[in-house]
Formats: sequence, C-alpha cells, structure tokens
Amino acid sequence: MMNRRTFLAAAAVAAFAPRAFARAAETKRRVVIVGGGLAGLSCAYELRKLGFEAFVLEGQGRAGGRVETLREGLAGGLTAETGGTRIPDTHEMTLAYVREFGLPLEPFKGGDFADVLHLRGKNYVAGRGPEPDWPLQLTPEERRLGRAGMSKRYLNDPLELVKGSENSLTVPAPILNLDHDTLQGYLEKQGLSRDAIELVTLGGDPLLGAAQMLMVGFNQQVIREFFHIRGGNDQLPGALARQLELAGAIRYGCRVTSIGQDDSGAWAVMEHAGGHETVRGDYVVSALPFSMARNLFADARLSAEKQRVIREQKYFPADKIFLQMQKQFWKAKGLSGFANTDLVSERFWALGPESPDDRGLLLSYVIGERAGKLDAMDTQSRVTQTLSDAESVFPGARENFEAARVKSWSEDPWQRGALSRFDPGELHHIPLNARREGRILFAGEHTSRWNGWMQGAIESARRVVKEISA
Ligand SMILES: Cc1cc2nc3c(=O)[nH]c(=O)nc-3n(C[C@H](O)[C@H](O)[C@H](O)COP(=O)(O)OP(=O)(O)OC[C@H]3O[C@@H](n4cnc5c(N)ncnc54)[C@H](O)[C@@H]3O)c2cc1C
Repeated sequence: MMNRRTFLAAAAVAAFAPRAFARAAETKRRVVIVGGGLAGLSCAYELRKLGFEAFVLEGQGRAGGRVETLREGLAGGLTAETGGTRIPDTHEMTLAYVREFGLPLEPFKGGDFADVLHLRGKNYVAGRGPEPDWPLQLTPEERRLGRAGMSKRYLNDPLELVKGSENSLTVPAPILNLDHDTLQGYLEKQGLSRDAIELVTLGGDPLLGAAQMLMVGFNQQVIREFFHIRGGNDQLPGALARQLELAGAIRYGCRVTSIGQDDSGAWAVMEHAGGHETVRGDYVVSALPFSMARNLFADARLSAEKQRVIREQKYFPADKIFLQMQKQFWKAKGLSGFANTDLVSERFWALGPESPDDRGLLLSYVIGERAGKLDAMDTQSRVTQTLSDAESVFPGARENFEAARVKSWSEDPWQRGALSRFDPGELHHIPLNARREGRILFAGEHTSRWNGWMQGAIESARRVVKEISA
C-alpha cells in the first residue's frame, strides 16, 4: 500500500525520471532492472557506481519487496518485520550495506531466556538442565541423545562434510549429493523412529527437501549472533532506493508485463498510470521472483531449460501474525517468548524493548503446509487461531492481547509466495535460475546459494554486476 511519504517520493521520481531516461539513451551501456527488491536495488546501485546507466522499474509504490516493516496499527516504537528480519553476523554482504549507509544495529534476540517446546498439549522448557521426559516412544539410544543430541548428530554433524565451503558462491557438492529425500525420508534412512523425527523437526515441516534444510543449517552453522536494524529493516532498501531516487533512476508504479530481446538489445514493456511504455537497454535484469515472472518472457528467446525452471520454481507460503501484548508477560516467568510447537502456530518469536513492563509483540511465524491452512481462513479466524495457540504456549496471552497485524505472502499480489522452495532433486536448479540468457540476466534470492536471505538477493546482484561488467 502506498502511504503519503511513498506517494510523494513516487510522484517526484515519476516526474523526474523521463529526463534521466532520455539522458541515459545517449549513452551506450544502459541496463533496465525489473523489480525494486534488494536484488534490483543493489544491482542498480552498484552498476551506477561503475558508470552504467541503470534504472529500476518497480510495480509497487514502495521499494524493498520482501523487506517490509509495519509500524501503523502498532503501539509507538514497535516494528513488525513481515519479511526479512534477522541479519546473521556472517552475512558480510548485507552488513557491508548496513555499514555503508550508517544504519544502527541491535541484537535480534537478547538475554539468556529459555525457549518453550509445545508438544502434544504440554509445554516443556528447553535448554535448562537435563531434557524433559518426552511423552514419545523413543528408543533407549534416542532417549539418551535427547532432542539436542539427535539434532546435533543427524542435522549438524553431516555439515562437517562441507566445512571449508562457507564462502563458496555455489551450493557445495556434498549437499547436492544428498538432494534425494525429504527431511523425513533422510532421517528415516539414518534409522530414527517416527516419534524421534517428530521431536527433531518440531516447529518445522518434515516433508521439506533434506538438502534445502541442510543448506539452511549450513548457512547458519557459524553464526554466533543475529542483528536487526534499529527502527526497522526497511531502512536498508530505503537507503538504496533513496540513492536511486536522487539520480532519477527508479520508477515506482510501473508493472512490467513483458521482457524481450533481439540481437541489438533488450527491453521491458510496462503499464503505469500514464498507459503502456517500452523501455530499451543493452541489458534487462529480471530481479523478480519467478512466481511473478512466469508469463513475461514470450519474446525473450529463452532456452527450453530456462523456461522450464521459471515455470516450475516453487515458493513456500508463509504467514506472520503479530499479536501486540500490553506487557511482555513471558519474561516474568524467565521465558524468551520463543517457542516451537506442534500447533498451527508452529513457531513463536518475541519482539520488543528490554523492559518486561513495556509492550511487545508475540509473532507467530508459519511456513509451508500450515501457512496454507491459515491462508484458507479469513483474517479474524487467523487471529483467533493464533491467540488460542499463544494462550496454550504462553498462558496469559489472551489477557494481555491488545491488537494484531496479519501478513500472508501468498496473498501478496506482488509476490505470490514467500521464499523459493527446492524439493528433493531441485537444488541444482539454483545455478539454472541464475544463468543469463543473452542480454537478459537474472537476480533475486531464488538464484543464490543464500536463498531465503537478504544476503541471497544482494549476492545475486553482485553476480549480475560482474556478468554485465566483465
Ligand atoms: C517471511 C519471510 C521471512 C524472511 N526472513 C528473513 C530473515 O530473517 N533474514 C534475511 O536475511 N532474509 C529473510 N527473508 C528473505 C529476504 O527478505 C529475501 O530473500 C529478499 O528480500 C528477496 O529480495 P529480492 O530482491 O530477491 O526479491 P523481492 O524482495 O521479492 O523483490 C521483487 C520486487 O519485484 C517487484 N515486482 C513484482 N512483480 C513486478 C512486475 N511485474 N513489475 C515490476 N515490479 C514487480 C515486487 O514489488 C518487489 O519489490 C525473509 C523473507 C520472507 C518472505
């Protein structure tokens, strides 16, 4: 939705942009970038540093795509990240922009509070002393290892295979070699019982591709802490967009309907308030999720293989439901407000200032199958379901509840999905997603080894900049 600030910025840029485009036409190396998420913005920003005439066409009235911070409808000072939230201390490319634009960081999850596991109707506090006597049929060895021991042995230890590949720009081969099974299938092959698998995957979906889950683990294994940009992560795309706005190099409200190429150049056709327009360049960069790009390439001379991966790329549904609480009552019980559950609200996170007496947010973050269940409900029912789950995990939630904000990424007309999903056998699509085809290049988290992260979008832009400037 366009607020007053973004509307004014859009109007100013729309008025200025035609002049900038005319100037750019006189130069040779002109790059049209479709999509103003982190991938498109950073691509344009870096290309311009190198002297290219690079422009972003963004369909919405705001930049940032899947980095979106909600403030309205929440008590003063509270921010709700509907998309990109945590910045790991190892995500050097994301942090480089944070430093470049002087954005203030705060720790994402402070304190040493315990987490809650909600399983079969009961709450267990994890991380304090010995593990609880799980109400599950576990083998003696599984019981001896406990949840932590099994997670270490079956999910963390295999990552030894990829030690030393931390900075690799591609998916490491040992992980690709494991890309045959769902997580459940993989754990069954390791000999884990059904109940042990339920315990190890609590708060997640065991039917996801094992290799993608190992990639997630691989991307997190050396992380010591997470950060958040104080005041909202949207300041990161906001800072990039502002640089482009100042140069007249971003146009909002421009929905691209077709991308094509011939021997002499490439072009994007768009719809905007003034009608249709075709913008030509030496190159076009598609920085759109493939969920939004499926019908754009009829005139693009793409190979059959490329057309297939664009058509078939899957996306996880994800819902975030933020419950504003009049105080962070869980802290009084020594709890962090973070939980993994077997409920529809598979995962709770807590956000808010330090003092337990201040207002805070309990966030239900649901990805995959259970997000599909929430999407089938109306908004009020989603809040009712989440509040009921919150009450089961953190008694007192109902009494402290004040307001809710709801986000479904499947329902977002500019995304149609949250994060790229790679089922068994599909992880090798990442380099195909990334592969340039003539004068059309491809950026976005779905083209990167860091898929599902802001760093994935930024890394993909760096790659495209190299491809164009080589
Ligand atoms: C629920 C969720 C949680 C996440 N959590 C984290 C996290 O904790 N940490 C982290 O680092 N990352 C996280 N991410 C991932 C991160 O937000 C994304 O990887 C990144 O923002 C993707 O950027 P992008 O540029 O590839 O795509 P997008 O942000 O999707 O950008 C695409 C842009 O294209 C525009 N567009 C679409 N169609 C058209 C069209 N036809 N014409 C013109 N423009 C169009 C869209 O409006 C959008 O602005 C999360 C994402 C989600 C959804």
